Amino acid sequence: MSDHIMNTYGRLPVSFVKGDGCYLFDDHGDAYLDALTGIAVCGLGHAHPAVADAVCKQAATLVHTSNLYGIPKQEKLADKLCELSSLERVFFCNSGAEANEAAIKIARRYGHNKDIKLPTIIVANKSFHGRTLSTLSATGNPKIQQGFEPLVPGFIHVDYNNMDAIKSACNNNDQVVAIMVEPVQGEGGLATPPESYLQDIRQFCNDNHYLMILDEIQTGVCRTGQWFAGQHSNVVPDIMTLAKGLGNGFPIGACLARGIAAETLTPGTHGSTFGGTPLACAAALATLEVMENNNLAQAAADLGEYFQQQFKHSLSDLIEQNIVVDIRGRGLMLGIELDRPCTELVKRALDKKLLINVTADSVIRLLPALITSREQADKIIQIVSELITELVNT
Ligand SMILES: *Cc1c(COP(=O)(O)O)cnc(C)c1O
Repeated sequence: MSDHIMNTYGRLPVSFVKGDGCYLFDDHGDAYLDALTGIAVCGLGHAHPAVADAVCKQAATLVHTSNLYGIPKQEKLADKLCELSSLERVFFCNSGAEANEAAIKIARRYGHNKDIKLPTIIVANKSFHGRTLSTLSATGNPKIQQGFEPLVPGFIHVDYNNMDAIKSACNNNDQVVAIMVEPVQGEGGLATPPESYLQDIRQFCNDNHYLMILDEIQTGVCRTGQWFAGQHSNVVPDIMTLAKGLGNGFPIGACLARGIAAETLTPGTHGSTFGGTPLACAAALATLEVMENNNLAQAAADLGEYFQQQFKHSLSDLIEQNIVVDIRGRGLMLGIELDRPCTELVKRALDKKLLINVTADSVIRLLPALITSREQADKIIQIVSELITELVNT
C-alpha cells in the first residue's frame, strides 16, 4: 500500500474494486459478502442501479452551483426529509461531523439568544459524534480526544441510558441548553436503551426548555427498522443529524430542526460550499425513493428480528455458558457481545470472505444492507456463529 496515504487507519490487507448488491470484489476478483456496508452507509447495497443512474444523469446535467442560488433538488430533498421526520428545516453539509457541528452551533446560539453566556450540552459517555474538534469534544471516549487538547468546552458527559444522571447534571446548572444522544450507540458497543429513555429525555427537555438533539447519523434512514430511530419511541427531537445512509455512499450530511431550533441560524451565521449540491441531493433523493418504494424500513425490522432469533438459536450453547453475553440492537444494527476481546474476528471473517466489524473490543457489529436476502442472512449467521465457536475453542 502507498506510503503517501496519511496513517490514520489500520487497514485490512484487502482492496475492493467493484461492488454489486451485498457483494464486494477485490482486485483478484474474489467476492466478499458485506455485512458492514461501509459502516452503515450503503443501505441499498453497492452500485445500486437507481442511485448510479441518478448520479450519472445529474453529473451530466449540473454538478454544483452555490448556495448563493436556489437549488431545486436540495429543496425537494429537504421537503422529503421533513415529510418523513416531522421536522421543519434542513441544513445540508457533507458528513456526519459537519451535521453535528451545525447542531452544536444551533444549540449554542439558541442559548445566547436566551442570554445564556456559556451554553452547555449534555452528552453521553461512550458516545461517538465525530472527529472535528467540537464533535470529538462531545464524544464520550477519551481515546478519541487524547492528544487533541484543549478540548472545546461546553459539554457535560453523563452515563448513557440513565435519566437520573442527566437530571443530576442539569440540577442547579442554568447554562444547559440541550441534550444530545444517539438512539443506539453505534461505536460505543451497540447500547440499545428501552423506548422510554428517549421519551423521558423528550419530556425533560420540554419541561426545561432544552433542545433535544438526536444524532441519527448511524441509526437514521431505515437502518433500525423505522425511517429514524427516534420513531420507535414516538419522539420527535428538536434537532436531528443524518449522514451515513443518506446518499448510499455519496457524501451528504443533514441537520434537521423544528420550532425555535429551525429559526436560529440566519443568513451569515453558518454555511458550506459543497453542502446540498444538485449531485449530492440527486443521490439522496434516489436513495430515499428506493427505500420508500420497497418499504425497506419494514424489511430492516423484519430481517433484524430474524438475525436476532437465529443467532439466539445457533449460539444457544454459548449463551448458556455466558460466553455470548448479549445479542442486541435494532433492525439491521446488530451487536453480539462476548465475554472476551474478539477484534481478531474481523481478520478471520475476512479469510472466510465475510466483512464484519468489532466495536468496544468485545462486541461483534453487523450493519448489513437493507436489501440483504434471507439466504445471505443465513450465510452471515452461519459464518459468524462458526467464527465465535472457533474463537472459544482455541
Ligand atoms: C459515523 C458517525 C459520526 C461521524 O460521521 P462522519 O461522516 O464520519 O463525520 C457521528 N455520529 C455517529 C453516531 C456516527 O455513527
